[in-house]
Order: sequence, then structure tokens, then C-alpha cells
Amino acid sequence: MITLRPLSLSPGKTGVLSCDVPASTMEATCYYCGCDAGKELNSFSGVEGTACALCALVQTLVRPRIDEEACIVWVPELSQPAMNVMIRRVHLTLRAHKERVETDAKPTKAVGLIPSLYHTAQALLDRRREATARLGTSSPSELADALLRLPAESYSGRDRLLGGARLLSLGKLFDGTSDIYPEIVDSWAANRRTARN
Ligand SMILES: [Zn+2]
Repeated sequence: MITLRPLSLSPGKTGVLSCDVPASTMEATCYYCGCDAGKELNSFSGVEGTACALCALVQTLVRPRIDEEACIVWVPELSQPAMNVMIRRVHLTLRAHKERVETDAKPTKAVGLIPSLYHTAQALLDRRREATARLGTSSPSELADALLRLPAESYSGRDRLLGGARLLSLGKLFDGTSDIYPEIVDSWAANRRTARN
């Protein structure tokens, strides 16, 4: 049993993401959500300890293409780690059925859990409107700019200021021009299979 670390929306530091360690070499637990961390992410600058891609993303809102990778939604009923665990589950299941994981991609099949998982992701995505109404934006990069301008005291209390704001992955993660998110989801799936054997 590990004690999870608190996970707060944070600008992080600008850094280039790279994933040059093969998926099979990394089987560690994310310090923030308790799930398998999967493919190692070397350069999520400013993230302390082992983090899965979803928890690392929450802490690196200054990433160059963050607005394509994620959006801000207002979901006070779920903690950020719970949101990450839920969306990981959605993406793992879609990928297992050979469906695309991008939130804007409609599944090609309507079997099993696929329709309800798709609608879960869309319902979370709809909460962008409430984030915009409450915070004035659903853009992670705009939120990062605002966080960077906060005085130190306010910054350290940002969880309270941000209330129910959560980062929702849009099912993409860029390493330069390549979307490596499908590989990351596959690394979670591979480690799950290994753990079961
Ligand atoms: Zn995590």
C-alpha cells in the first residue's frame, strides 16, 4: 500500500516530452493515482517522482500542445486522480476494441461497454462549459498563464481557488509532431496482462 501524493493543476516547466524507454522496461506505480505508470516519460519537467502520463499532464500545463492534449472541465464530484483513473479505463477499453481514443473520435462499433464509455467521455467533455462559466476559460494554457501570474500565497492555495476544475485528457499526447498516447495506453494494457500472468 502506498500513500498517494496530492495532485494539483500546475504549470510545470516547459520541456520536450520523450519516451525512449521501451514499454516493457517500466512497471512502476504512479505516485499520484496509484495506477501502473506505463511507458516511461523522461521529460515531463517539474513532475516529482513516478507519474503516469495523465497525472504528469496535470502538472505540466505549459506543454506546447496542451490545448490539443487536454481541456479544463468543472467536475467537483470527482477528484483529479479519480478522473484520471476513470478516463484511463475508458481509453484502455476503447483501445482493447481497436477504437480510437481521441475524445472527438466516434466509435465505429456499438458493442459491450463502448457506447457507454463514449458517452461518459462526452459527458465529461460537456463540463467545459461550466469551467468556462466559472473560471473564464477551459483552455489549460490560459489557466497555466493565470497560475503563473498568481502571487506565491495564492498559488500555494490554488486547489481551493480552482474548486472543481479538473484536467480532462482528450486522448492525445504529443512528442514533437507524433501522437504517442496510443503507445502509452498500450503500455498500461501490456503491464496489466503481465500482472495477471
Ligand atoms: Zn497517475
